[in-house]
Amino acid sequence: MSFSELGLYSSLVRGAQALGYTEPTPIQARAIPAVLSGRDLVASAQTGTGKTAAFALPVLNRLGPHRNTGPRVLVLEPTRELAVQVDDSFQKLGRFTDFKSVVLHGGVTLGPQRNALRAGVDVIIATTGRLREFLDGTLINPDTIEVLVLDEVDRMLDMGFIDDVKAIVKLCPPKRQTLLFSATLPAKLEEVAKFALNDPQRIEIAREKPVTASVNHVIHPVTENQKLDLLHALLGRDDFKSVIVFTRTRKGADRVAHQLRLDNHACAVIHAERSQGQRVEALDKFKTGRVGVLVATDIAARGIDVAGVSHVINFDVPLHAEDYVHRIGRTGRAAATGDAVTLVTPQEANEIVAIEKLIGQPIPVVPVEGFAYEGGAAPRIDPANPLANSPKRPGHQQSFGKGGKQKGDSGSNQDKTYKGKAFGGGNPKWHSKGKPGAHWRTRQGR
Ligand code: AMP
Repeated sequence: MSFSELGLYSSLVRGAQALGYTEPTPIQARAIPAVLSGRDLVASAQTGTGKTAAFALPVLNRLGPHRNTGPRVLVLEPTRELAVQVDDSFQKLGRFTDFKSVVLHGGVTLGPQRNALRAGVDVIIATTGRLREFLDGTLINPDTIEVLVLDEVDRMLDMGFIDDVKAIVKLCPPKRQTLLFSATLPAKLEEVAKFALNDPQRIEIAREKPVTASVNHVIHPVTENQKLDLLHALLGRDDFKSVIVFTRTRKGADRVAHQLRLDNHACAVIHAERSQGQRVEALDKFKTGRVGVLVATDIAARGIDVAGVSHVINFDVPLHAEDYVHRIGRTGRAAATGDAVTLVTPQEANEIVAIEKLIGQPIPVVPVEGFAYEGGAAPRIDPANPLANSPKRPGHQQSFGKGGKQKGDSGSNQDKTYKGKAFGGGNPKWHSKGKPGAHWRTRQGR
């Protein structure tokens, strides 16, 4: 199927082609005709599947020529980065049309956003907080909204934006088209759908397989004490070129970035406590390859669309299984391949079960070859007994979830290779430090 068969204006087909899109992705092939029909829609699609164009193209199609009659499309996004990213997609896809858009998000002055609204826009792409500020004033008249897009709704729910979303929905005219997109479909999402949508069509692509097949998953067992050492060792490998390291907390992100810098890894940090300028700069450094490592928290990572991310490293197991899907959606995008590496301590083992259930596949537990594990062996990852921390049996390769545990072939763990490659002696700096874990503990005074 080609874009021209979907019923879009030729200017939009050209916009998609100019981006190198030769054919619609599955979510686009199903969602574009649905949106063009005018019906409300609930669509779930894993991140990185082309979900943005799945709503941007038909929504731009609906706009037709630019008439400057007030905002006709309102897109709500959970984070600033995602809002900017989605606007970028609108701009690129609609480059052969004359629509006007504005991004409204916090963390920056109101002036330029006010000016853009005064000049007239067709599309508003906004985060909820800043939008509500504007809605309290007179610059936006929500009565002209024809299409409301609620994007990444699962994330908005996680972030506690449900009341804001409801308040904004209430201000929009009842006669409108509403499109709800979400990477996952938590039960609470139905509440939003009932509240905001009218007899929606449902497209559920993510449910069958919530992660792209192009991502390889692996768990590296490690103790809490050695997590930073293992991260450092992994980043020293040749194939770890463009890496996003996820932590659960902002403090954790700062701590990891600080340590990586001490270890001479050029990295940038992105989390919600950083200013908008710092966030943009960090993302830019990573996108342009000036730093090879981006340390990020879950919230800030939404909207990061960087081509060629070779690895996502979960420094901490994500709190919610859904976050795993979002995190690893940063790599293996649009059918490129990528690796999702999760560092798991015995205490975090239980949390892996929910992730394996969600992604529908067991994740192999593979000790990192050549890494000097404390006690001579990788810790055992046992979901049934999270406090167990006995050294692994030599030759034992674990996996749990569907199909139970899998045994590796014979030989010592330390002889095994990771993805068929030897560790290459690891980072010489790391090995020269002698006792495993020592450098982190001494620097941090632990
Ligand atoms: P999204 O899921 O919207 O964040 O898109 C993920 C990535 O896929 C982005 O880099 C898009 O530019 C790219 N993409 C979207 N649609 C297509 C398509 N039809 N063909 C190739 N790449 C696409």
